[in-house]
Amino acid sequence: MNQPTPSTRPDLHTRASTLLVTDDTAVIFFDAERLIVDANAKARQLFGEIQARQTRLDDPWLGELGLQLVDRGFHPLTLKALLSGQLTDPYVGLSSAQHTRWAQWHVLATTHQQQPCQALVLTEVSDLMQSFHALQQQAEDADTRDFATRLYNRRYALERLEQMHLHAKRYQSPFAIAMIDIDHFKRINDTFGHTYGDEVLERLASVIQKSFRETDLCARFGGEEFLILMPETETNAAIFSLDRLRQQISELKWTQMQRPVTISSGVVRWQMNQSVEQLIFLVDQRLGTAKKAGRNQVCGDLF
Ligand code: GH3
Ligand code: MG
Ligand code: MG
Repeated sequence: MNQPTPSTRPDLHTRASTLLVTDDTAVIFFDAERLIVDANAKARQLFGEIQARQTRLDDPWLGELGLQLVDRGFHPLTLKALLSGQLTDPYVGLSSAQHTRWAQWHVLATTHQQQPCQALVLTEVSDLMQSFHALQQQAEDADTRDFATRLYNRRYALERLEQMHLHAKRYQSPFAIAMIDIDHFKRINDTFGHTYGDEVLERLASVIQKSFRETDLCARFGGEEFLILMPETETNAAIFSLDRLRQQISELKWTQMQRPVTISSGVVRWQMNQSVEQLIFLVDQRLGTAKKAGRNQVCGDLF
């Protein structure tokens, strides 16, 4: 079948005239058996070679092409649901192993070469959807992250701690909690200025984040305090991690300061009979003990 461009093809152009058919619009005509009777160039670009009256517009065909329809939350959808009008969202994603392309979709009852059929019209909106996802991510980040350090914020950390607490109660999966505080940070501000203090804080936040596992949660809990939640971690291992971090931070070199910057930490193990507030109180108490014992140290209960 020869393939003129959509704009020069009367049937593609006029039958879909209620829609704005652009170069970004794929049109696939199919009959009552869901056999594809015709498709334009953009459709072939999206789906590869299409054999008119041989290729069936169905989920197994998409599977053979290594494609999966998804909704805006990347949950799988079926072509069957889309063609039978069960979807309310006008946007679908077409995911391959490499990437997801996004389209606004319509299914129309129409005619093709004087025969009644239906048309699946997909207008690619990948650029628009990428901006949408980026904005969505930014909104989520603004809600859960601290602006200066990009670590999670206190509210989000407490929410997650509450969830981990419930999970641990139910599944007996204890975890470790640490509170970190920068030693004599006020002196750094007072001596080198608040802006320099901010730089120190941001660098330390980055070192802290990198020193924990991806499954651990690092949050800025207050001014120069950080809360770390470590799932599936025994207290001894948590104390070891915190001490390694303490050592690493004390060895950092600084542009204006001769003296090292140090941190103190408290570590506790999750306990069934303690509320989240009590756990925070306990870990803060351990941190206080580390401060009183001379700073640049970790305080926790070794088992
Ligand atoms: P300690 O060893 O007992 O923790 O002493 P400290 O000086 O670190 O503790 P203190 O609580 O006396 O002072 C904390 C200081 O941290 C005071 C506050 O101005 C500063 N701070 C809190 N948040 C920020 C921030 O975002 N940027 C800067 N530059 N300073 C901050
Ligand atoms: Mg401090
Ligand atoms: Mg403090």
